[in-house]
Amino acid sequence: MNIENKEWLFGKTLAQIEDIVAQIGGKKFVAKQITDWLYKKNANHIEDMTNLSKQLRSQISEKYCVGYNPYYKVDTSSDGTRKYLFKTSNGTFIESAYIPDRDRATLCVSSQGGCRMGCTFCMTGRQKLQDNLTSGEILNQIKSIDETENLNNVVYMGMGEPLDNTDEVLRSIEILTAEWGYAWSPTRITLSTIGILPMMKRFIETSKANLTISMHSPNPKVRAEIMPVEKKYSILDIVKLLRNYDFSHQRRLTFGYTMFDGINDSISDANDICILLKGMHCRINLIPFHQIPDSQLRPTTNQDMVKFRDYLSKKGFTCTIRASRGEDIFAACGLLSTKESQESN
Ligand code: SF4
Repeated sequence: MNIENKEWLFGKTLAQIEDIVAQIGGKKFVAKQITDWLYKKNANHIEDMTNLSKQLRSQISEKYCVGYNPYYKVDTSSDGTRKYLFKTSNGTFIESAYIPDRDRATLCVSSQGGCRMGCTFCMTGRQKLQDNLTSGEILNQIKSIDETENLNNVVYMGMGEPLDNTDEVLRSIEILTAEWGYAWSPTRITLSTIGILPMMKRFIETSKANLTISMHSPNPKVRAEIMPVEKKYSILDIVKLLRNYDFSHQRRLTFGYTMFDGINDSISDANDICILLKGMHCRINLIPFHQIPDSQLRPTTNQDMVKFRDYLSKKGFTCTIRASRGEDIFAACGLLSTKESQESN
């Protein structure tokens, strides 16, 4: 809903729009005309949909609007990264990060305001769950940033656990990839999850987008200390499930591994990763930890990250260290929105 209290058409799938059109007695092909206006011609008002009859436009407008939420604020880092802040209709602040990198331009989108997963290293987790974003609110982040035309990748790695809001996230991916939608290749999209098992299975079987699993430790006991979800969905069961699917072709499987000094960064940890992932087609992405306030956790030194990477590489894994971006503009996810909501209270 927006301030006019009308529901957004933007973010609805073709099937949903066919239902809306059918309810007011319109012909089925009209739904496809509407998705063209929404996702190909970027119409901002129902009135602009000039190949729809005037009567139909006015009937649809009684309950719906196109829907658009401009960003609230943007900060630009010295390295070109831009952190966008949006205020949802519920008053929650959410973040998106635009990351240009040579010929790639990636947007990291949020799927929830806050998060209920409680990972101890995460500012968003401290906010608790405040809002599940609709598919329209997820796609609005892509539509309304200044660089929307440059984008060639979208990663669901911003605030929230995407598979704790699966229906809306899958709907947004359907719109991004469908012929009637933005017609992006699914290889341009990556969803990152801490591994909500039943939803992960559903995501793998209904979408072709890339998957990143937040591992952060191969050892269930250590992982449970930093990620409470481990007690319900163990990394051992996550890997077991993933072994049932083929990631040897275009679709990419990555394990994200944020490194904490003295917690998960020993060579013995690296060896446990090798045992756990033996024979799998996957990559490992080592992530420098961005310090957050009031936390005992410390980042692993760059030198130790390199040693860890080299060990995994020698064992035959494709392993990279993620470049730190935008450190001067609250790089850790959730810091900027926390600051903004504290200031606005
Ligand atoms: Fe939620 Fe992800 Fe933060 Fe964990 S790391 S609390 S899943 S946003």
